Amino acid sequence: MTQASQGSGRRPLVAGNWKLHKTLAETRALLDDLLGRLPSKEAAEVVVAPVFTALSTAQQRIAGKNIGLAAQDCSEQSQGAFTGEVSVPLLADVGCTFVIVGHSERRELFGETDEQVKRKVLAVLKGGLTPIACVGETLAIREAGNTEKHVLAQLDAIIDGLETVDEPLRAKTVIAYEPVWAIGTGRTATPADAQAVHAAIRRRLAERLGPALSGGTRILYGGSVKADNAASLLAEPDVDGALVGGASLDATAFAAIVAAAR
Ligand code: PEP
Repeated sequence: MTQASQGSGRRPLVAGNWKLHKTLAETRALLDDLLGRLPSKEAAEVVVAPVFTALSTAQQRIAGKNIGLAAQDCSEQSQGAFTGEVSVPLLADVGCTFVIVGHSERRELFGETDEQVKRKVLAVLKGGLTPIACVGETLAIREAGNTEKHVLAQLDAIIDGLETVDEPLRAKTVIAYEPVWAIGTGRTATPADAQAVHAAIRRRLAERLGPALSGGTRILYGGSVKADNAASLLAEPDVDGALVGGASLDATAFAAIVAAAR
């Protein structure tokens, strides 16, 4: 466990977003490799998010082990005439316990709006799973000095949704701060820059949902987290784990990031 998380009671969470990678055979191989590298009792919570078509295969591999299953997205609908969609009840059925919602690639490439992200977060919570709700600014927004304003506006939409559900449900939500300019680019926010945004997120959660919820909410950092920069990011007091893209496709690198989160 990181020094920072130790006092907070927030269990570190490291989630691997595999994006559009890995066949079924590759999924099995990567999970076997990863399972061989993680201690049987892991202080950090570890979750992987394969493509939809590999979820069932992944679940068979990790059942009873200390890796959880996440989906990379979900429908806001639970069932019906919505061709191509995958609902939260179906993700629960296949063994998912987490769903990544509002990833910047969904927002930028598929036009997902703050309102949709809000509705998806609610669908995940009402379906009994845990949302990892992503927020983050582009480089242009950062360079214009509007990072906090932008990230908090995205967060406010999520909080608008959380205000409509009961406390035990809303308290499950995980927030991931992922500066868009750091995703897949090799550029990482400095630990101090990440901490500043994480602290602003926690303050806003406290203002709108109360200090207890804010103090218990895990806020992950994502954006080119690697084995060699994870420890310094995770040492920040409001960084409670990592959402990892590229490095999660390599069992050695991902296991090292998990070790840094202990
Ligand atoms: C991500 O996709 O959420 C991500 C953080 O990617 P990467 O680690 O490759 O920057």
